[in-house]
Amino acid sequence: MADDAADRRDAEVDRLAAAIRACRLCRDAPLYHPRLPDEPRPILRINARARVLIASQAPGIRAHLSGVPFDDPSGDRLRAWMGLDRERFFGDGVLIAPMGFCFPGHTADKGDLPPRRECAGVWHRRLFALLPQVRLMLLIGRHAQAYHFRRLGRPLRAGQSQGDLVRDWRAHLGAGPRTFALPHPSWRNSAWIKRNPWFEAEVLPELRREIAQAMAEGAT
Ligand code: SF4
Repeated sequence: MADDAADRRDAEVDRLAAAIRACRLCRDAPLYHPRLPDEPRPILRINARARVLIASQAPGIRAHLSGVPFDDPSGDRLRAWMGLDRERFFGDGVLIAPMGFCFPGHTADKGDLPPRRECAGVWHRRLFALLPQVRLMLLIGRHAQAYHFRRLGRPLRAGQSQGDLVRDWRAHLGAGPRTFALPHPSWRNSAWIKRNPWFEAEVLPELRREIAQAMAEGAT
C-alpha cells in the first residue's frame, strides 16, 4: 500500500517535471516585463525520493546552453561545501530547483537578471507540495531564501542581510525541514568567505554532517 502511494507520487512528480520542461510562459505570454530573451530551457532535477533540496536562483548562460546546472567552478565549490562528488551531487539523492527555471538573460552590464517571477506563481507551490520527503534544504541567494523562509512560515525580518541569515544557521535547524542559508558559491563571494572564517570553520562541517545523514536516511 505504501509502495503504491510512493509510486503514485513518483508519477505525479514526473508529470509535473514534464509540464515545467515544456513551459514557454515567459517567452510567449510573460506576466512581467521584459519577455524572456532566449528560447525557454527550464532546468531542474527532481524526484519524489531525494531528501536534500538545493533551492538556487536561476541558471546562468552556461547551464542554459548545456542543460546541466552547477557544471562550473561555482558547482565545484558547492560540491566541496557539501562534501559530495559529482556522481552523488547529480544522483537521485539531490534535488535542484531554482527560483527561476530558465536563464533570465543579461543586464546591460552583462550580469544576470534576477530569476523570473513567473515560476514561483505558476509552478513552485505545486512542486514543493509534491516533495514532502525533503528534510534538508540549501537556500542559495536572496531570492530563494526569501521565498522558502516565507513558505516555511519564517519570513525574513526587515533589514536582515544575507550575512545575518548565514550567520544564524543554528536557528534554521529547528522544526520542519532543516535549512541552511548559503551565499552563492561564485568567486564573487570569495572575499566575503575570507572575511567570515566561521563560515568554513563552523557552518560547512555541520552542513556536511546534515547532508550525509539526510542522504543515508534516503537510501534506507
Ligand atoms: S522561467 Fe519558469 S515560468 Fe518562465 S518559461 Fe521558464 S519555466 Fe516557464
